[in-house]
Amino acid sequence: MESLWEQTWEQPNFPAQDKNINTDILIIGGGMAGILCAYQLHCTGVPYVLAEAETICSGITKNTTAKITSQHGLIYNKLISRFGIERAKQYLAANEAALQKYWDLCQDIDCDFEEKAAYTYSLSDRREIEKELNALEKLSFPAEFVHKLPLPFPIVGAVRFPNQAQFHPLKFVSGIAKNLHIYEHTQVRELIGTTAVTNHGRIRAKKIIVTTHFPFLNKHGSYFLKLYQHRSYVKRRYISNIIFCSNAQKPFILLVFRAVLYYHSHQWLFFAQSNKTRHRHINPPAPSTITILTSFLSTILLKMTFPAVFLYFIVKSTFPSLLKFLSS
Ligand SMILES: Cc1cc2nc3c(=O)[nH]c(=O)nc-3n(C[C@H](O)[C@H](O)[C@H](O)COP(=O)(O)OP(=O)(O)OC[C@H]3O[C@@H](n4cnc5c(N)ncnc54)[C@H](O)[C@@H]3O)c2cc1C
Repeated sequence: MESLWEQTWEQPNFPAQDKNINTDILIIGGGMAGILCAYQLHCTGVPYVLAEAETICSGITKNTTAKITSQHGLIYNKLISRFGIERAKQYLAANEAALQKYWDLCQDIDCDFEEKAAYTYSLSDRREIEKELNALEKLSFPAEFVHKLPLPFPIVGAVRFPNQAQFHPLKFVSGIAKNLHIYEHTQVRELIGTTAVTNHGRIRAKKIIVTTHFPFLNKHGSYFLKLYQHRSYVKRRYISNIIFCSNAQKPFILLVFRAVLYYHSHQWLFFAQSNKTRHRHINPPAPSTITILTSFLSTILLKMTFPAVFLYFIVKSTFPSLLKFLSS
């Protein structure tokens, strides 16, 4: 299924790698993260290439909500409690700096960039909203309490972040990717030091930046055992208002709304909460004791199997020589 962004995008094309390459920096993965790295390197004149396994933005970037905000749900109260005011301030400043950077870049790119306020609302917990606003006051951020939003249901309150933004992510990428050194259909299959083995040859680099979103090598950290699939649900509604908001309701309901320019008219995109595949309820019932126990045991089993098998082979291969050594 094509995303709304793909339907309204003229996709640029880049060649596949056709020879072995030596460069300073290799970027692996051509989503938003990789393309932005390539763009920054391009602007500073550092030699680089970007290798993308399929076509640029064929990963998560083509399906993102594409809001550019410093607001990520109700996060600042938690950050202050956990890391203190200074760290929370740094996090907020980094987010605001990124927002400003997007703002500057988008001035020259036709990418439906719009300044918007962002809202996180709650259906029943006004206290959570108030706590977040207190936290933001400590960080000297001009957030506001909002009583009502033009949503099709009542809320008890919302945190409003002024001067945030949204855009068309793929039009933005088309704008900045034009002159970048990108190889599409070039999949990195193996890394030998800082040399990448691809489906078309080798790319030797001094440094490598991995922006594949998911780890693509199964060697480090056994991430392939820890990954699981998530699914989000999106609906499109015709509506005139143009804000975006998310729900602070935890743990199971997360409804995100954002307006989008679709063939020159504003429509609302409505995102229901994402969940693990096979967990089909948007608002599931509380898990039973049996479910919790089974899930706990299966996690333990999964985590134990790999080391146990590994240990078995080690013991099996060293045991005869150990016996020989002890008996001599
Ligand atoms: C439903 C949803 C909504 C989101 N909304 C927002 C939002 O509103 N705002 C926001 O800031 N973020 C949002 N995000 C987060 C979003 O994922 C990131 O902002 C961003 O799009 C991720 O880009 P990326 O470059 O890291 O990954 P991707 O876009 O997935 O790019 C990774 C690329 O690496 C390539 N690749 C993989 N393996 C290899 C290999 N071996 N060799 C070469 N290439 C390889 C893939 O083909 C892919 O193109 C959202 C995420 C989801 C799932």
